[in-house]
Amino acid sequence: MSTETIARRNRSLDVALSEARALYAARRPGSKAQHDAARAVMPGGNTRTVLFHGPFPLCAANGEGAFLTDLDGHRYLNLLGEYTAGLFGHSHPVIRAAIEAALDGGVNLGAHSTMEAELARLVCGRFPSIDLVRFTNSGTEANLMAIATARYASTREKVMVFKGGYHGGLLYFGGGGIPINAPYPFVVARYNDIESTRATIRKEAAKLAAILVEPMMGSAGCIPAARDFLVMLCEEASRAGVVLIFDEVMTSRFSGGGAQALDGITPDMTTLGKYIGGGMSFGAFGGRRDLMAIYDPTLAGSMPHAGTFNNNVLSMAAGVAGLSQVFTPDVATALHQRGEALRGRLNRIFADAGVALQMTGRSSLMSLHATAAQIQFVDDAATSSDAVKELVFLDLLERGYYMARRGFIALSLVVTDQDLDGFAEAMASIVAERADVLPRR
Ligand code: PLP
Repeated sequence: MSTETIARRNRSLDVALSEARALYAARRPGSKAQHDAARAVMPGGNTRTVLFHGPFPLCAANGEGAFLTDLDGHRYLNLLGEYTAGLFGHSHPVIRAAIEAALDGGVNLGAHSTMEAELARLVCGRFPSIDLVRFTNSGTEANLMAIATARYASTREKVMVFKGGYHGGLLYFGGGGIPINAPYPFVVARYNDIESTRATIRKEAAKLAAILVEPMMGSAGCIPAARDFLVMLCEEASRAGVVLIFDEVMTSRFSGGGAQALDGITPDMTTLGKYIGGGMSFGAFGGRRDLMAIYDPTLAGSMPHAGTFNNNVLSMAAGVAGLSQVFTPDVATALHQRGEALRGRLNRIFADAGVALQMTGRSSLMSLHATAAQIQFVDDAATSSDAVKELVFLDLLERGYYMARRGFIALSLVVTDQDLDGFAEAMASIVAERADVLPRR
């Protein structure tokens, strides 16, 4: 394509995007007013950065089943699935009944209850690496606790993470890391790069306490780990006495036993979060019995692990109901297959239209990239056009489909095949109507 054609396409993209933004704004005065009011009391009117997007963020009025309604009365099929925590859809009847029963039993008991051991039994029974588990309030906290466990047990200091990785608000490694990260001595390696990572592990071995890795990078744009890469991490970690931690906060839904069961790779520790608490606040860290035993209060010299809400009855009850009655291993397998089918279908739509769009990911999680380049490493995703992704996001909203501004989709259990047919058709119509501005393969 000539440089003149590309320049014309980019100019048209700028115009299309500003028109789409103007349409978004004109049709959502309620969200705009809410955003303006919220700015008076929260920085940028926001208390969760990922939900912010221009020109001003969408404000939800309510959710029902698989659908979300905004303050201006627009209804959307919710394909964002609360960044994976919304696996059960909005107020699933089984979860709702469990929460109501928990409320009947009284909240804030300030004592052990039967529910926490029941949820622990379900979690330990499903994830091969988890002999013993402890609960937290978020995935962030779970990862902080897992790191602390590995550092204490190994008496080493450093923690290997990967550029582009996301393990929580204080453990963000997009671009290599942020100034407000937890102050651990991190060693930042290159995801999916077997040789350089192996060399770094060997070089740092004496000081390395842990390797913290997502089996699929979620925040970086759904970039799955090559199985060989994870196998290498496992082998090198066990050789060097480093604690390998799989952050399965997102990927635990890949099968009944998470990505680790799907790939047959067992780390030393695993962190969980999101839907495992039935959609309530939740996190968990668990792993080898000897590592987790440091928190056993019946043993002399044990470490404290605190948290007022660690065993709150709402998360515990919702989690037990979700894992035992709704998201059983068979259901996990079926959802995995639906996700694989949807991603394949969308990629065929893009390929047939000759546009440089693609959905990467695995299982029921996927992410849109506006590039035809093969995405194996995090840097490959940097070639994606953010303006194109914003345009697709806004166009989908106009057609009644809600996904993350960054192009992320997490299928929930309550989305039907018919819903997904409608979504695929909406994507095909956007690709056809925007043919003059979308990048070509
Ligand atoms: N780890 C991964 C892989 C995540 O995707 C997230 C959240 O998106 C977290 C950890 C942090 O979980 P939370 O938001 O519950 O703190």
